[in-house]
Amino acid sequence: MGSHGNDNLESSVKIPTIKFTKLFVNGEFVDSISDKEDVDLAVNAARHAFDDGPWPRMPGSERAKRMMKFADLIDQNVEELAALDTLDAGKLFSMGKAVDIPSSADTLRYYAGAADKIHGDVLKMSREFHAYTLHEPIGVVGHIIPWNFPTTLFFLKVSPALAAGCTMIVKPAEQTPLSALYYAHLAKLAGIPDGVLNVVTGFGPTAGAAICSHMDIDAVSFTGSTEVGRIVMKAAAESNLKVVSLELGGKSPLIIFDDADVDMAAQLALIGILYNKGEICVASSRVYVQEGIYDKLVKKLVEMAKAWVVGDPFDPKVQQGPQVDKEQFDKILTYIEHGKREGATLLTGGKPLALGGKGYYVEPTIFAEVKEDMLIAKDEIFGPVLALAKFKTIDEAIKRANSTRYGLAAGIVTKDLDVANTVSRSLRAGTIWINCYFAFGNDCPFGGYKMSGFGKDSGLEALHKYLQVKSVVTPLYNSPW
Ligand code: NAD
Repeated sequence: MGSHGNDNLESSVKIPTIKFTKLFVNGEFVDSISDKEDVDLAVNAARHAFDDGPWPRMPGSERAKRMMKFADLIDQNVEELAALDTLDAGKLFSMGKAVDIPSSADTLRYYAGAADKIHGDVLKMSREFHAYTLHEPIGVVGHIIPWNFPTTLFFLKVSPALAAGCTMIVKPAEQTPLSALYYAHLAKLAGIPDGVLNVVTGFGPTAGAAICSHMDIDAVSFTGSTEVGRIVMKAAAESNLKVVSLELGGKSPLIIFDDADVDMAAQLALIGILYNKGEICVASSRVYVQEGIYDKLVKKLVEMAKAWVVGDPFDPKVQQGPQVDKEQFDKILTYIEHGKREGATLLTGGKPLALGGKGYYVEPTIFAEVKEDMLIAKDEIFGPVLALAKFKTIDEAIKRANSTRYGLAAGIVTKDLDVANTVSRSLRAGTIWINCYFAFGNDCPFGGYKMSGFGKDSGLEALHKYLQVKSVVTPLYNSPW
């Protein structure tokens, strides 16, 4: 491990030597042949491990033991793993270390706890029959994940599938493969049998597409853009009708009512858009503020945005690192130009930041007077760009918040319980946060409505995504019942 090159950093962060760069297939690191052939080899390994291997057949408690060990190994390597995600994605090292990596170890533990509690029901059917259901692992699963949360999303997919007894191929995003390969290594150390967890790096239209159209994969669990989600579903339909679950994009509204505490509401709105430099599917990218509190709230929000620290993601004082790559950076700046041209009022930001001439940094940007037909209100920008609008009544807020093709999450800030409950029921989104934002838990189902997808990650719902139900029926010849 070398130390970080920037002498200005308060604590010198260790930059890890990159240990794993190949593919992980059947328990070994191997060279790539081509995206399609790599996927074929990984699927063969996973198929064999599922059809003939011990993993789906062993007691759930034994799978749990190895998953717990896997989690402990993650905890023993937190700094190195957090640094890999920072190098790959520009994520804050401090966040990776405090949140992404340890909470992912806990995700494994949560599902490990469920591995020996998978059971069906006994059914009475009728007088002549006795029946029961078996909950069986769905088979070979393809997990396709994006770059914005390489660790969190890896474990939201892999953990319930492991607990269910599935075998799998994970394709991390092309921008962020490093931690996924490291996790494959740790899985082997933890005693997860060869072929159960394979990691194939590669590009979306080739490796990703090969997974979606593979005839020997039973289910695909995809997290990424709505645009690619549609391609995934089509490929599944045109191949073997594999089971599909999609966690897609969002354009989540945060509604702030007149009775809200200004400081708290401004803080939620700010973090809601700037956390992970806006590269988060549940970003509160549309903020609706009631007219009575609007001026005070906006003043506070702009002050806070101006004080927000952008820079080297390894620096503990920094609050926002660089966007993941040039493509994302250019996309964000193009949307900012759209916002200006469409007549929204730019309150702060709006420009790239040239920090030492390196890195794709974007200023925290706030637009006001945004209307629902503007591109910056309709499209997921996936960057630090907030669209603000003023509203008068509850009904107006609900209508405008719902006027989106997405439905991933929404936030409400009010002290009035009746308002909070009424609005919660009226919003068409998979998660509603009242007087908080970004509150996640392993036991709390997470997933979208509308074009934000279907099927849940997190919670026992996610375990059931990787199980299928078999009904077993036997006749009863002499039952008096
Ligand atoms: P993306 O859709 O471009 O890529 C996601 C993954 O799909 C990558 O691994 C990519 O290689 C792969 N892929 C690309 N083309 C493919 C194809 N033709 N067939 C199969 N796979 C293909 O998304 P991204 O830019 O990496 O990530 C950002 C998107 O992810 C945003 O829209 C964001 O909202 C979404 N996201 C959603 C959630 C959620 O839980 N709902 C969480 C994080 C990110």
